[in-house]
Amino acid sequence: MRAVRMTAPGVLEQVEVPTPSAGPGEVLLRVGAVGACHSDLHILDAPAGLFPTPMTLGHEIAGTVDEVGPGVTGWTAGERAAVYGIIGCGRCRACLRGAENQCRVVPVGGFGLSRDGGLAEHVVVPASRLLHIGELDLTQAAPLTDAGLTPYHAVELARDRLRPGTSCVVIGIGGLGHMAVQILVATTAVRIIAVDTSVAALDLASRMGAHDVVQAGPDSVDRIRALVGPPPDGADVVLDFVGADPTVTTARQVVATGGQVLLVGLAGGTLPVRPVADEPPTVPLETMVEVPFWGTRWELQEVIALARAGQLRADVQTFPLADAPEAYDLLRRGEIHGRAVVVP
Ligand SMILES: [Zn+2]
Ligand SMILES: [Zn+2]
Repeated sequence: MRAVRMTAPGVLEQVEVPTPSAGPGEVLLRVGAVGACHSDLHILDAPAGLFPTPMTLGHEIAGTVDEVGPGVTGWTAGERAAVYGIIGCGRCRACLRGAENQCRVVPVGGFGLSRDGGLAEHVVVPASRLLHIGELDLTQAAPLTDAGLTPYHAVELARDRLRPGTSCVVIGIGGLGHMAVQILVATTAVRIIAVDTSVAALDLASRMGAHDVVQAGPDSVDRIRALVGPPPDGADVVLDFVGADPTVTTARQVVATGGQVLLVGLAGGTLPVRPVADEPPTVPLETMVEVPFWGTRWELQEVIALARAGQLRADVQTFPLADAPEAYDLLRRGEIHGRAVVVP
């Protein structure tokens, strides 16, 4: 079968590999759609040894069951499914309460991270990772598993502060950010302020239901402050889907006293936390800073339910498998709007 693999650090190419088969407890999925994620660029850019090579990338997967391995019950060939991308140990304190994204035993593992992912015609998946998607298109189901799940999890973590009448600043209206806006619209009554450097991204945010948009630039903080008020007031919640130095700085400068900053994007910015009460603080007093990671299986089930109810829809740009490397180049240059989805 054809697969797009990281054959060496930084090298992504389409190659021919043997079609795998399902072992005990596993299914062989015929891949219908795979989202291209910024995290894949971080994986490609990572130093040698951090991720296995060669490895098929792609952790945002939906497809059709092709072959059911020994011992698998509840799934039959021909059924369509979305794949929960994390594989925790299944036995630690975190995994036992469903938070495999916090596994205490296995470091960040899953498809396209520690084992072959979905950028191929087929992928082997433990049956426990599959979720039913009803009538959803596979190109819609795939982005739900990360671009939908990750912001949903972040919103869940901030749910206590996302009360009617509060404000939420969403920085970075890309694959995750445009889903975050829809999740906030569907599940809260907050004022949504979208921030991005790109006018096209801000147009997308407006179409998805953002109440205000701010084009990022040297005066971002002043313009957001004009909407959320001066300190000690400010944004109740800031979701940063970029995580670079300029965006984490904006986040801490617009959050309210007692607010919450969630750094979702993995761009490597630094947010200093210095506890002081008598000078402009790095982070306001009583403010919570969190670094969410992906989400849980039960949250993914709710994300799928939201999509099936017509309240969450990824804006997708599709590419054939052979063009996957080009899709990542466009993503790197910031030229993808919404989510790039590869259709093998
Ligand atoms: Zn991802
Ligand atoms: Zn675990």
